[in-house]
Amino acid sequence: MSLLTGKTALVTGGSRGIGAAIVRRFASQGADVAFTYLSSAEKAEAIVEELKGMGVNAKAYQSDASNYEQAEALAKSVLEDFGKIDILVNNAGITKDTLMLRMNEEQWDKVIEVNLKSVFNLTKHVIRPMMRTGGSIINMSSIVGVTGNAGQANYAASKAGIIGFSKSIAKEMGSRNIRCNVIAPGFIETDMTDELDEKTKEAYLSNIPLKRLGKAEEIGDVCVFLGSDMGAYVTGQTISVCGGLNT
Ligand code: NAP
Repeated sequence: MSLLTGKTALVTGGSRGIGAAIVRRFASQGADVAFTYLSSAEKAEAIVEELKGMGVNAKAYQSDASNYEQAEALAKSVLEDFGKIDILVNNAGITKDTLMLRMNEEQWDKVIEVNLKSVFNLTKHVIRPMMRTGGSIINMSSIVGVTGNAGQANYAASKAGIIGFSKSIAKEMGSRNIRCNVIAPGFIETDMTDELDEKTKEAYLSNIPLKRLGKAEEIGDVCVFLGSDMGAYVTGQTISVCGGLNT
């Protein structure tokens, strides 16, 4: 038997990058998987077919995680389609990097809405049905949320906010057997990090003890641990998956 057989997962931003690796890892461990995307409809449908080929139920939903009403409608649809949600992964996120001297209100608001308000939106609408069975909420932060980073004040604030939010949910919901943890990835190879220039990438690399960038699948593996009963006594924690960068 696989680690997630009988469980249903909802993952935001599952069409690319880390989210796509998470949904593949979940399916490979027997979970039925619902996931969202914002605009990558074709990629999302291709992943759905791939997951179904692994013998699980899968469906993609176009839904803006930063929008409260859309998050509410999404949770309702997933519950109608799958019957329950055992694992929620709040993974969707964006960057709008610039130094504070140049950062405008739109760049601040957008990053906070997509990265942090989305975590509230989905948790708010999933937590009540999850109380019936217990469950695991996994929120995607970043080591930048722990350490800060020049040029990423908006992103770092959103990711630090996720950590405080998650500790609070762990304390509120532990008695209902709902666990809530945070993953803080370091520098993972995805479209998001492709945007960085070579000089920045080399600077990161020289400071990573494992001397390589991370793979999205390596974040997926930690999600499997936290989503499964292997992580049954872990809640309120922030797990850095960063090749030792934040050490
Ligand atoms: P990515 O490759 O840019 O993929 C982002 C995903 O989020 C896509 O599936 C995208 O959908 C979705 N998305 C974006 N805005 C959305 C919205 N408003 N509503 C719903 N979905 C939305 O990013 P990634 O590198 O995989 O990052 C995933 C998460 O890990 C983010 O929270 C990021 O901050 C965090 N993280 C990444 C790294 C890294 O090194 N890559 C490091 C630390 C933390 P579409 O395909 O439709 O656009």
